[in-house]
This record gives sequence, C-alpha cells and structure tokens, in this order.
Amino acid sequence: MSSVVIKLRDDADIAVVQAHLKGCGVWAKELRGEVGATRTTVIALKPYSKHVNTAVLMDIPGVEDVLTASSSHPLVDAQRGRKHWIGETLLGEEGTPILMAGPCSIESEEQIHTAAAMVKRCGATVLRGGAFKPRSSPYSFCGNGAEALGWLKSAASEAELGIVTEVMSEKDVDAVGAIADLIQIGSRNMQNFSLLHAVGGLKKTVLLKRGMSATVDEWLLAGEHLLDGGAAGVIFCERGLRSFDSTSRNLLDLNAVALLKHVYGMRVVVDPSHAAGRRDLILPLAKAAIAVGVDGLLVEAHPQASEAMSDGPQALGEGELKRIGEIF
Ligand code: PEP
Ligand code: MN
Repeated sequence: MSSVVIKLRDDADIAVVQAHLKGCGVWAKELRGEVGATRTTVIALKPYSKHVNTAVLMDIPGVEDVLTASSSHPLVDAQRGRKHWIGETLLGEEGTPILMAGPCSIESEEQIHTAAAMVKRCGATVLRGGAFKPRSSPYSFCGNGAEALGWLKSAASEAELGIVTEVMSEKDVDAVGAIADLIQIGSRNMQNFSLLHAVGGLKKTVLLKRGMSATVDEWLLAGEHLLDGGAAGVIFCERGLRSFDSTSRNLLDLNAVALLKHVYGMRVVVDPSHAAGRRDLILPLAKAAIAVGVDGLLVEAHPQASEAMSDGPQALGEGELKRIGEIF
C-alpha cells in the first residue's frame, strides 16, 4: 500500500494545511516522529482518498514537497537499527543479545524477590513477571493486580534488574507505566488498538508480542499504532503461532523473526517459553533464536517451577535457566 506524503516547511501551520486538504475532499493524517531521513512534519494522504494532483497540493501554503511513501508503516520503518534502553540494559547492540527472565505470574512478594535473585544469578538483566494475567479461564489465577507491581519494583531494584511487565487494560496503563522500563503488550491484545494508543501515550518503549494468528503485516501495523500513539520505540516479540499440531503449545515462527530482524531491521525478541509450552524444548528453541540473530530472549523461570500458579509446564528452574544464560 502506498500513500502520498506531503512534506511541510518548518514554519507551516498544520491547521491551515489540514483546512486546505479538507477543502479538496482529502482525508489526511499527520505523522508524528521521523519519516525516512527527515524530521520535518509530514501529512499522509490515504491512498483511498480522492485523487488530488501534485500541483494542487504544492499550492497549499506551507507545503514544501509532495512524495510517495511506499510503506504503510513509515514510523516502524524509521526505527531501523535503533537501540533501546531497558533500565540499565541496552538492547540492540549487535552480537550481544539480552536475557529477560522471571515467572509467568507474580505470586507473592517473597516469590518475586527470590525469582529476581535467581534470574540475576543466571545472567538476566531484565526481570519479567505478570501482575495482570490474561487467562483463558476466568477460574485460573489471574494475577495479584496492582499490588504486585510494587513487589515487582522492589524485587527488581534489589537485584538491579530492569522490568518488563504486561498491561492488559487502559485503566492500568499509568500504574504499569510508573514502574516498568519496558511495557509488554500480550499476544491477545496485539490488535487492541485503543490499548495500543493509550500505551503509546506513556512515551516508553514497548515489547509487542505477536498475536497468535497475526500476519507479519498486522504485527508491523500494530507497532505503527504504538508509535503513532507516541511510543518511544517498539521491540517485536515472537512467541509462537497457533498451529494444527498440539504436540507443543505454539509454532515458533523463526521465518518472521529473520524477516523482521534482517530485512526490516527491527529489534526482535523471541519467547521460547510460550512457543514450546514445555520446559524440555526451551533450551534448543532458545539456541535456534540466538542463531537467527535475535536481540534478546524472554524466558519464564520460577524458583519452585513445579509449583508455579500459571504456565507451570514451561517454567524453568535455576539449573535450566543457567543453561540458557550460558548460550549468550
Ligand atoms: C506472558 O508473557 O506472560 C504472556 C501471557 O504471553 P503471551 O501474551 O505471549 O501469551
Ligand atoms: Mn506465561
């Protein structure tokens, strides 16, 4: 899909330009941030808008140039090669992927403190843990909610780790934003566009998990929604697709990882835990992801793996997580 892009002069009055475009019957949207090499404000005309010829657009006061954008996700494209700080950890240094690890759910203050010390010993620099858990059944443990965010913050500070945690609802965006270095959008919310825009408003970096049936284009466009909403950056996380085979939980799409990483130049993380759904497959999948060139791994680990309140079959104990740490 291509769009016509109007590049504006620095002194252009956007409201005046928009009014002219409206007068021409054109639907336009202001793009925030950089597009390509330019930082100049641009207005994109959607391809399904009424055609207006270049001469008419060039006559609008404040218009410097009229261009054709070949991509439907210019803000994502502009992220090519960008690095992201997650607390004290830099993600995106080529050849130095990072380990983000921790329990599926934050079960208690003590559990997350013990988990933080454990993942630190295994080489992780970012602590994961869900306070708000998306569960298929309403009768499953759905997390300890806002109270757990405080436990996560103190555990991460004590162990000197960054924090990644999921936000599921717009009402919790500020509370999660106040403690997280990296905001996680879960697979089930990848196309919750109002949530994406609310999270974008935090102006933080976001870990965008791929929807379990989402195409690569839908995933990239979800990233565009986040950036359009104001997000500082998007890191794409592949966690496996729903497939026909229930031998393992999901089908890890390393094709898409290679495509986003090496063709689109995005920062990509793999979550082998939710892909495998079983602890015995996590180490080989983690190795495969590292071989493809990912910028990081997101791995579930629990101090008492056999007693985990969610995703127990895929929870790694300290010995197993240590082996993951050793492949970096
Ligand atoms: C998670 O990482 O805790 C999680 C729920 O993962 P996903 O959204 O990939 O299912
Ligand atoms: Mn989980």
